Amino acid sequence: MPDLRLDSPVQFLKGVGPARAEVLAGLGIRTAGDLLFYFPRDLARRPAREPIEAVRSRAGQDVTLGGVLERARWGGRPYRPVFSARVADNTGAIDVVWFNASWLRDKLNEGDRVVLTGRLRRGSRGLEMNNPKFQILTGDDDPAPAEGEAWEPVYPAGAEITSNQLRSLLRRNLPRLLPLVVDPHDAGYLADRKLLDRRLAVGRLHFPAMPATPISLSAAELPLEPDLSAEEISARRAAARHRLAWDEALLFQLALAMRRRARQTQLAAPALPCDGRVRDRILSRFPFELTGAQRRAIDQIAADLAQQVPMNRLLQGDVGSGKTVVALFAALVAVANKCQAAIMAPTEILAAQHHDRIAQYLRGSRVRWAMLTGSLTAAARRDVHARLAAGDLDLVVGTTALLSEGVRFARLAVAVIDEQHKFGVYQRSDLRRHAGPAPHTLVMTATPIPRSLALTVFGDLAVSTLDELPPGRGRIDTRVATPANHAAAFDFIAQRLAAGGQAYVVCPRVSPTDDPDAEEDPAALTLSAERAFDRLKPRFSRFGMALVHGQMDRARQQAALADFAAGRVRVLVATTVIEVGVDVPAANIMAVLGAERFGLAQLHQLRGRIGRGEAERSYCLLLTDADDESAAARLGILEKTRDGFRIAEADLAQRGPGRMLGVAQHGQTEFRYIELVRDLPMIRAARREAFATIAADPTLAAPGRAILRRELMKTHGATMDLVDA
Ligand code: ADP
Ligand code: MG
Repeated sequence: MPDLRLDSPVQFLKGVGPARAEVLAGLGIRTAGDLLFYFPRDLARRPAREPIEAVRSRAGQDVTLGGVLERARWGGRPYRPVFSARVADNTGAIDVVWFNASWLRDKLNEGDRVVLTGRLRRGSRGLEMNNPKFQILTGDDDPAPAEGEAWEPVYPAGAEITSNQLRSLLRRNLPRLLPLVVDPHDAGYLADRKLLDRRLAVGRLHFPAMPATPISLSAAELPLEPDLSAEEISARRAAARHRLAWDEALLFQLALAMRRRARQTQLAAPALPCDGRVRDRILSRFPFELTGAQRRAIDQIAADLAQQVPMNRLLQGDVGSGKTVVALFAALVAVANKCQAAIMAPTEILAAQHHDRIAQYLRGSRVRWAMLTGSLTAAARRDVHARLAAGDLDLVVGTTALLSEGVRFARLAVAVIDEQHKFGVYQRSDLRRHAGPAPHTLVMTATPIPRSLALTVFGDLAVSTLDELPPGRGRIDTRVATPANHAAAFDFIAQRLAAGGQAYVVCPRVSPTDDPDAEEDPAALTLSAERAFDRLKPRFSRFGMALVHGQMDRARQQAALADFAAGRVRVLVATTVIEVGVDVPAANIMAVLGAERFGLAQLHQLRGRIGRGEAERSYCLLLTDADDESAAARLGILEKTRDGFRIAEADLAQRGPGRMLGVAQHGQTEFRYIELVRDLPMIRAARREAFATIAADPTLAAPGRAILRRELMKTHGATMDLVDA
């Protein structure tokens, strides 16, 4: 047999034949390594095996005993046989009875050594156990109490293989598999950081009672230590997870550090200086004073742009905090330096919004700019392409149409990507690459990324934060309404509308057919925009109503938004297409139907559509359709705060980073061992170490880092564009 390797087919392992291999493949286990890293989802405690003498006084409790079957006897009626016996260990004996026991005929025999688990009861002749679970010990199995084995890993099982079977498969094979695990770090490194050896960590994630001493390759199964306390077991598990989480964090931070370094040293961007005169000229285009936060962000950006190192900055700020102005500033610095700038938005609506805003600010200026979206006619698109390539356009605003093949820039120097979390990670880097020589990049988000996450997910970005809203924003009262309060909520909306208000009604879905089941109950809250529109008509049509959702063509969407913006209709029933970019200052009411279906950060974002104008007070009603207190409690934080960062942290804690950022599918935020919120101190330590390591050894070329380097390339090389030099 060839030597076992981690990439050997799982069939090479003890206890795995062709049939078993197929079953395992169904769980995603194809190689020996797959099995080794198939970790239990939990640890269950079997009662420890105890000496019979020790349980004498414990009638009524569940216990586990071990001993030899004596005086076995069949009785009862032929069709309902009763099997009784005594089980004796060297401290005592008790009676055991199995009723209805025909299934035991070929299984249990006098003289068998067994382990029994069941409830003790006081019988006519002393203690006894009825119908205990049993396990027959064979060969060298040790019938003595073994506390270590009492902690059993519980594996995610399949229809054709049980957790028990997986457990014994692993226990038998671990002595051969663990030595194949390679550790990139030496003992000194591990000792300094109080980290477990990687083999021990992997072994103990399966069986926390695994001893730290070397294990014989030929052992029939992994030995386990007896007599471990619950505290010891859980401390060992935590240490094992911590080690693997450290590896995960370190590799990720190394990748970020390497990518940042490569960008800084290899990609020269045009330096875009901006003196006081240029700055004043740009700022004079805006019809208001900048907030302090906007000024700080602009200073940071101006400093970045003056360098030849490409800017790579995240601008985060709540909805309405005025990011567009900051973005436009960056773009106009490029234009002032006779270079081009591009602003990319995730939706047509948002691109159009930027377009309108820019048209307003740039009125009468010499800046040549255009819009590029998928809905342009082919001729118009070709025209924009040609002018961009010829350098006859200074600024382009668009959607992902900016990423398409035909787009070439004469001298792109600043790329702004709005609401970047709506794009995939790959698309983000696409615009960069597509643009030829590195442009300065500014990504913007209104889903404030908790500082913690900014470090981990976007860890190679510098961050500017707009933590101050422009003056004149009204307050927003937010209330969660459970089904009992829905009628009152709609009454309230009607009343505010009658007083001249303007309302968004936001639904989770477009049409009832998106989820027929959920729409069956006529009393239930309507969750699709189309149906809500119909149902609300009798109440609200006198205020004028319009419908907008992403499946409508763009012209109709624009028409609905324009009617709403002009106040010709005062109720806009919508899906989350309005989540970003829609700016109707008069809107002062929002009702979100089925609010529990949204994440907190998204609701916060939606809520940012109101309270933007003159109205002193705006109202946000979050209607839940589940009579579920926990949903209401979850949403409660929105009643209490408008601080996007606090909300984002709560959202992160509730839903995890992948869903929150919408980039899970790109693999970057899918950590297997790291628990984001809890492990932040560890991630920071890994980050410091990784950045220091890369500063000293940019390509991890030191001989002692060969394994680390290989792991890095394998894990992140492709997704993070690392150059395997
Ligand atoms: P964001 O993109 O961060 O949600 P916007 O850039 O769309 O915010 O700005 C929201 C609104 O606030 C816009 O109507 C904009 O004109 C206005 N605004 C931005 N900055 C200021 C400011 N410093 N003072 C007053 N109004 C501002
Ligand atoms: Mg915006």
